[in-house]
Amino acid sequence: NLKLTGKVAIVTGAASGMGKAIAELFAVEGAKVVVSDLHLENATQVVKEIKEKGGEAIAVQANVAMEDDVQRLFNETTNSYGTVDILVNNAGIMDNFVPAGELTDELWERVFAVNSTGPMRTIRKALAIFLPKSAGVIVNIASAGGLFGSRAGTAYTASKHAVVGLTKNVGFQYANKGIRCNAIAPGGVMTNISASLTAPNPFGAERAMAGMAINPRVGDAEEIAKVALFLASDESSFVNGTIITADAGWTAY
Ligand code: NAD
Repeated sequence: NLKLTGKVAIVTGAASGMGKAIAELFAVEGAKVVVSDLHLENATQVVKEIKEKGGEAIAVQANVAMEDDVQRLFNETTNSYGTVDILVNNAGIMDNFVPAGELTDELWERVFAVNSTGPMRTIRKALAIFLPKSAGVIVNIASAGGLFGSRAGTAYTASKHAVVGLTKNVGFQYANKGIRCNAIAPGGVMTNISASLTAPNPFGAERAMAGMAINPRVGDAEEIAKVALFLASDESSFVNGTIITADAGWTAY
């Protein structure tokens, strides 16, 4: 029994890492997947791979920080598939561990535009489709950095805390309208983001080491995709406004 048969799912940042793994797994589970990303070429490649395995998907280029792009993403989705049932806000950028004392307005605003305002924009559009049919599911990819203060730089940490607040607020507000909104807080997962981290940790090498020493292990994107599938499917029908940590126990320390 497939878990998402016939469902239309938008996944942002789906050309790489966790977004790609989520798009692929959702397609295997019977969803029609809108593989959206800043980079069309990479998104098109993901669509090709999904189709080769018998799945259904389209690629849509969209920068979640741009209102016009988000509008076009929803237009192209409804033109192709008629509706939206599932929204996965996965697109995100890191801040290279820049600490508060060295933050520029530009970096703060760039990180928030993608990580926090992006999900607000897509949720706003999704609600216009979800509310009339009293159905819809939102899955936000937050971060362990959205729950704890020490997992990244200042802008990233604050932007992911905003995603946690957004998730709880939206989940509660629409709880009696057939709409659910939850988030995943992944620990360290091997993707392009983690591979690109080169800056020294702002808390100092010793404290960074201590943080890493308590991390049981790094995860695979597929392990996050399985949690996203649970949250997107009816298996989690009574789960709403909450954050599921997926980090092998890192933040339990
Ligand atoms: P990734 O870099 O492999 O993938 C992110 C994708 O998002 C890329 O394809 C990129 O092109 C796209 N993207 C970036 N900015 C965008 C924008 N403005 N509009 C649309 N697409 C955009 O990274 P990942 O690790 O798979 O990250 C996915 C999510 O998981 C992010 O929100 C990230 O913050 C979060 N996260 C990652 C980790 C980790 O250790 N990798 C841990 C916790 C949370």
